[in-house]
Amino acid sequence: MHVGVIGAGQLGRMLALAGIPLGMRFTFLDPAEAPCAAVAGTHFRADFDNADALAALAASCDVVTFEFENVPAKAIADAGITLRPGPAALAAAQERAAEKTLFEEIGIPVAPWRAVDSQPALDAAVAELGLPLIAKTRRLGYDGKGQRRIRTAEDAADLFAELGNVPLLVERLVDFDAELSVVGCRAADGEVVVYPLARNRHEDGILVRSETATFNTALQRQAVRHLRALAEALDYVGTLAIEFFVCGDVLLGNEFAPRVHNTGHWSIDSGGVSQFENHLRAVCGLPLGRGDLDRPAGMINLIGEVPPAADLLAGRDTFVHDYDKPPRPGRKVGHVTVTAADHVTLARRLDNLENQLKLA
Ligand code: AMP
Repeated sequence: MHVGVIGAGQLGRMLALAGIPLGMRFTFLDPAEAPCAAVAGTHFRADFDNADALAALAASCDVVTFEFENVPAKAIADAGITLRPGPAALAAAQERAAEKTLFEEIGIPVAPWRAVDSQPALDAAVAELGLPLIAKTRRLGYDGKGQRRIRTAEDAADLFAELGNVPLLVERLVDFDAELSVVGCRAADGEVVVYPLARNRHEDGILVRSETATFNTALQRQAVRHLRALAEALDYVGTLAIEFFVCGDVLLGNEFAPRVHNTGHWSIDSGGVSQFENHLRAVCGLPLGRGDLDRPAGMINLIGEVPPAADLLAGRDTFVHDYDKPPRPGRKVGHVTVTAADHVTLARRLDNLENQLKLA
């Protein structure tokens, strides 16, 4: 199989690293000069909406997928490309109001929200929902970008202009116990596999740490139900992730990603079939592999620069993933997976690694 991937960042790179053992070949479309996935396949250097490049991708690949959700869906459809996952998933993931509406339709609880298209509408939403709130641009937001918290009436004044006079979604700020996510994969025949719920920590909008944890099984069951409902509603093919806030014993849906996800990276090293390989199996029509893990696993993102591998690898059951990207503050340049025989040992090893990274 020859797989086309729109985007050639670390997710594309890890897709290729998972697919090459299955005899797959990869072609990436990405405007960057030397994106980090390019070493793992052919690189078409062009804008994502370049009609000639999209036509060439369609002509050379058996199937086309993507590594980020803000791909230009219309240009891709105009090029005659049948994407996997398909346009319904992109439409819902690219627009936060559509996403929240879908969550509500399929029974995923969400924080109270309003779509607002002007400063007066924002003022009305503040009055209706009460403070504190969070405002988010409805399109093209990621890693906390295009977001502003509204704690006082002054925070809301002029906020519509400050966020660029673009459509916004305003929602209640949730006083959550933790941020969790679930990653799963659906095959074209409807089979679904789901990985264990992960507990995640973000700092400055960027994921720092993700680990499988001992959750009460009721939460895991809710997560599986929500993931299945979403995948079925979208007739989804491939790996997807839903991010939740947990409040007591309820999962509130925050957002979903129609792609492999940072909070599932530990699946590469934890004994089952990784989220990357399952995505490829799904989009290529192969049988899926199980999502349960042999061992509890977690990962810590390397942000800014990658410390010397020898230091990172000194810990037991530690796996380094260096994306070979130029260092830059705030940029995800790699991750380290840690596994352990039990969750207590895992948490200790992850704590040690975090401390080591802070001291480096
Ligand atoms: P998002 O881009 O929607 O994933 O938001 C980025 C991060 O902002 C989330 O991971 C949360 O830490 C925080 N956040 C987003 N929405 C809310 C909310 N309604 N209540 C509390 N924190 C939020």
